[in-house]
Amino acid sequence: MKVTLLGTGTSQGVPVIGCNCEVCRSVDYRDKRLRVSVHLQIGDKSFIIDSGPDFRQQALRERIRTLDAILFTHEHKDHTAGLDDIRAYNFSQHKDMPLYGEERVLEQLKREFAYIFSGIQYPGIPRVQLNPISEEPFEVEGVKFIPIRVKHYKLPVLGFRVGDFTYITDANFISEEEMDKVRGSKVIVLGALRKEPHISHFSLQEAIDVLTELKPEKAYLTHISHLMGLHREVEQELPDFIRLGYDGLQIEL
Ligand SMILES: [Zn+2]
Ligand SMILES: [Zn+2]
Ligand SMILES: [Zn+2]
Repeated sequence: MKVTLLGTGTSQGVPVIGCNCEVCRSVDYRDKRLRVSVHLQIGDKSFIIDSGPDFRQQALRERIRTLDAILFTHEHKDHTAGLDDIRAYNFSQHKDMPLYGEERVLEQLKREFAYIFSGIQYPGIPRVQLNPISEEPFEVEGVKFIPIRVKHYKLPVLGFRVGDFTYITDANFISEEEMDKVRGSKVIVLGALRKEPHISHFSLQEAIDVLTELKPEKAYLTHISHLMGLHREVEQELPDFIRLGYDGLQIEL
């Protein structure tokens, strides 16, 4: 399996429009963060988790030739806004794009992308196939995904475990029961917004505490705000097994 971090930024991305802080002015490529998404290449199967506003740019940058399905963690715009661009795969693969998400998330997609679901099949609109999921494990193209229930303030959100890899973005609480589902993962990607506490995202220290308890071989932080600080400086403060993610980072496992 090859995992590629397509984007590692919080909802506004980094740099933030109009911001003149040292992170937003940084020339380090690791301080340029598109909105969060991840690509999983498993054998000849290709999946992405979330299709945020930067989806098109990410798919082009990583040369994602084929896409078998999109899995959604939750319905926030920074995770869904790029859905229209799946049209490219509709044309090249001659089929509807399978989307996997909780019922609530799929309902929100229907509202936000009403033209896709209007029943008037205007030529060229995205074609999708909706697959509701719950907290039960499910298979897509022969690949088993284990949903991990996490809390994003009051919103229930899903993370996903595939084999020895677990991906959790927007969260600030994981129950013991769900931690058990993650335990044993060799690689974990976990959201950490900034150093200061936040109402709906893990802070840097909270994420370190979760990862220290889970003890993966390697962990990468994602959904990072410009308030986190410069990539190269923050990394120096982290335990060895935890690194900040950056856009384009590839993990083989
Ligand atoms: Zn988000
Ligand atoms: Zn800034
Ligand atoms: Zn969110």
